[in-house]
Amino acid sequence: MPRGAPSSSTADLTTGQRVVAGLSKVALVFRHAQWEASGRRGLTPTQSQILAIVAGSRVPDRLGVKAVAEQMAVTMGTASEAVGALVSKGLLRKEADEADGRAVILRLTPRGVREASVASEWSEVIVDAVEAMPEAERATLLRGLIGMVRTMEGRGLVPTARMCVGCRFFSPNEHPGRSKPHHCLFIEAPIGDADLRIDCGEMEPAGEQERSRLWDVFVNGRPLDRQCPGDAGRAHPGAGVSKSRQTVSSSTKGA
Ligand code: SF4
Repeated sequence: MPRGAPSSSTADLTTGQRVVAGLSKVALVFRHAQWEASGRRGLTPTQSQILAIVAGSRVPDRLGVKAVAEQMAVTMGTASEAVGALVSKGLLRKEADEADGRAVILRLTPRGVREASVASEWSEVIVDAVEAMPEAERATLLRGLIGMVRTMEGRGLVPTARMCVGCRFFSPNEHPGRSKPHHCLFIEAPIGDADLRIDCGEMEPAGEQERSRLWDVFVNGRPLDRQCPGDAGRAHPGAGVSKSRQTVSSSTKGA
């Protein structure tokens, strides 16, 4: 074998397998940073994530242990145990749901609010590595990740994501050839691949048929005709959004 040539075992790997090998290395760093940062504050990564989920909930008055377990894709037992530990630590409290006396909702204590605000700090190490990439590569990576999340979401492997590609306000490839080819009808502004959201607070799911059409247009690069499939008289489902929504809310600026 010539010097410097890859070993046969490495050369035989498919592109998909090499991508997984790369993701495994990123996951290793991710887990390490997560344990280190959480451990410094006397929390497990699961407990940190629960604080972040409760803090970022769109429906804070309805979030119970079951919803937390679903969002984290863990069992009820795991979520209950972590919630119990957070209650003992004085970071979370359980309250009776006013709408349903038998249900329990989770609320952050003032200390819990402070801890939640730093609960995502551990991810900075990964953010730094991504920021070191050229912008075009970051955008390509984001597109690829969106595709992966969408596939896993469809197979029930991850909780439902609030992504542009499934949002009724998303108009992919509305401005072909421009640096920001897509359009968000919520903020009424063009957006590029680098602006795509994975967890947008303003996302409203498009209908099932519309979602698959949005994806097709997003991937294949054809502009939308702003008509729903098979309905020539009906406007795009995102049309008619208030013109007053001119600024991106803080939650839309998120993931
Ligand atoms: S930024 Fe938010 S509101 Fe706009 S298209 Fe994406 S998910 Fe929808």
